[in-house]
Amino acid sequence: MTLRVGLTGGIGSGKTGFCRLLAKYQMPQLDLDAVGRSLHADAACAAALIKAFGTGILDKSGTVDRRLLAALCFPDAEKTRLLNRIMHPLIWQKAEAWCADQQAAYVLIEASVLIESGGVPRMDVVVVVLADEVIRQQRVLASRNMTLAQFKAIVQRQCSDFGRRKVADFIVDNNDGPDALAHQAEMLHRQLVEMAAANG
Ligand code: ATP
Repeated sequence: MTLRVGLTGGIGSGKTGFCRLLAKYQMPQLDLDAVGRSLHADAACAAALIKAFGTGILDKSGTVDRRLLAALCFPDAEKTRLLNRIMHPLIWQKAEAWCADQQAAYVLIEASVLIESGGVPRMDVVVVVLADEVIRQQRVLASRNMTLAQFKAIVQRQCSDFGRRKVADFIVDNNDGPDALAHQAEMLHRQLVEMAAANG
């Protein structure tokens, strides 16, 4: 049985970098945030979003524009909840179909919203990447076109590290440099392969 491994962490914690390090072990990986973005082009999903939020979320070509959608929904808790109620089931439907097609010791599903979208019970193993907020802030502001206020607003919207620790089977500490992260990727891969073998 293929082990389903969900990987999450706050903005700038190093999820993507960690997945890149694990990629060398050639286990299938799915980026759930990218699944969400690709769904905006799906006709049924777009229709549900337009019904909920109106045509103001469309760009000039009539396609759902995720920046317009985010600008409309994220400042408003009720709209954010509605957006999540539309998107999360569709995202997991795609992810489940993808998982069913995989044959490997384990699959890795990277999802910033793993916890918020109700994905934890769907996983066999949950890996949480943690780094202190001040370190995440420095890394994100140095590498992206984002203001401190935007960073803080995203942190505010996301699950807390306290909540992440509660559901974690493995914790990756990314407060140090890339070598420390690479070492943890190797250790985790070995443990996951062992767990998968024990599972049969
Ligand atoms: P998001 O949730 O926003 O997608 P993320 O958790 O995927 O973020 P990354 O994009 O992997 O985070 O990392 C954020 C930034 O921090 C990147 O610029 C990355 O290169 C840098 N970074 C990650 N880990 C380290 C590290 N151990 N040492 C130095 N820089 C790091």
